Amino acid sequence: MSTCVVTGGAGFLGSHLCDRLLAEGHRVICIDNLDTGSLQNIEHVGDPEFLFLNQDLTEPLFLEEDVDLVYHLASPASPIDYARLPLHTLKVGSYGTHHMLGLAKEKRARFLLASTSEVYGDPQVHPQPEDYWGHVNPIGPRGVYDEAKRYAEALTMAYHRQQGVNTCIARIFNTFGARMRPHDGRAIPTFLRQALQDKPVTVFGDGSQTRSFCYVDDLIRGLKLLAESEVHLPVNVGNPKEMTLLELAEAVIEATESRAEIVFEALPVDDPQVRQPDITRAKQLLNWEPQVDLAEGLRRTIDQAGVERLVGASD
Ligand code: NAD
Repeated sequence: MSTCVVTGGAGFLGSHLCDRLLAEGHRVICIDNLDTGSLQNIEHVGDPEFLFLNQDLTEPLFLEEDVDLVYHLASPASPIDYARLPLHTLKVGSYGTHHMLGLAKEKRARFLLASTSEVYGDPQVHPQPEDYWGHVNPIGPRGVYDEAKRYAEALTMAYHRQQGVNTCIARIFNTFGARMRPHDGRAIPTFLRQALQDKPVTVFGDGSQTRSFCYVDDLIRGLKLLAESEVHLPVNVGNPKEMTLLELAEAVIEATESRAEIVFEALPVDDPQVRQPDITRAKQLLNWEPQVDLAEGLRRTIDQAGVERLVGASD
């Protein structure tokens, strides 16, 4: 049995990762300050090998336990959250990542950084391979998140090269599933919340911008394979099936059997026009690719979360 630290473990992805690690017989130390996560995401866990620590990672952390793996997922992750918490987003990407890399160094643990496709910014290369350096506006409203993650990647490589820490970097593309917050502003939870109430589904711009959506179980499988590999280079983890936001809205309306109509709203500043992972590296090095398509993922999300949780508090 190995001991895994999961930062951000009370969040959407982190809580699914905790479930998966516990199911495979690992001990899990979940660290979260509940900024954007919730105890509701982990309240079902009755495993004695699960420990929850309510701790802000921007403060130093001391752990007595031996640790084999650190999954560092803590960070505000949706545009609404990092617009509300800009300085905190920069601090968790910098101080928080320093503290967790320090922990991995002290414990001689493998370290996985949950990075993001946002390091590519509004990409000028399509699809995006890992050796594309990106096109990021550092001073725009999304800069606090994009640059925090780019800094965290630089820090991770510095700890690896200079301090010999055994690190890896997952560049996560848009992922969806149960436990996304209905009001976190991301496309799938927003569309599901609206469609399930037969309210207008709000598409930004003309809906021609593209995204690629990965179902959470596929993503977690990819993260684990990367963490358990000997790879140090960044690896894209996401679903390469690309679609327009308008197509996504139509798919959500179909999956929910909704009578909602689609309406168009102003495009947010610096909203990327395209987003599609090149997953050649993940296929070659990890033998990983997604297995669940959008329609099946939406079905599972609705079944697992239930309508009440997807709709949340009324608008
Ligand atoms: P989330 O907001 O649900 O989870 C993030 C968690 O981190 C929350 O539980 C939050 O309370 C916690 N946290 C934030 N600041 C903290 C701090 N200072 N100390 C301790 N805990 C803190 O978001 P998510 O979608 O689960 O994202 C998890 C990670 O994956 C993030 O690093 C995000 O950047 C990355 N990611 C997610 C996606 C996606 O589509 N969900 C895409 C790309 C990257």
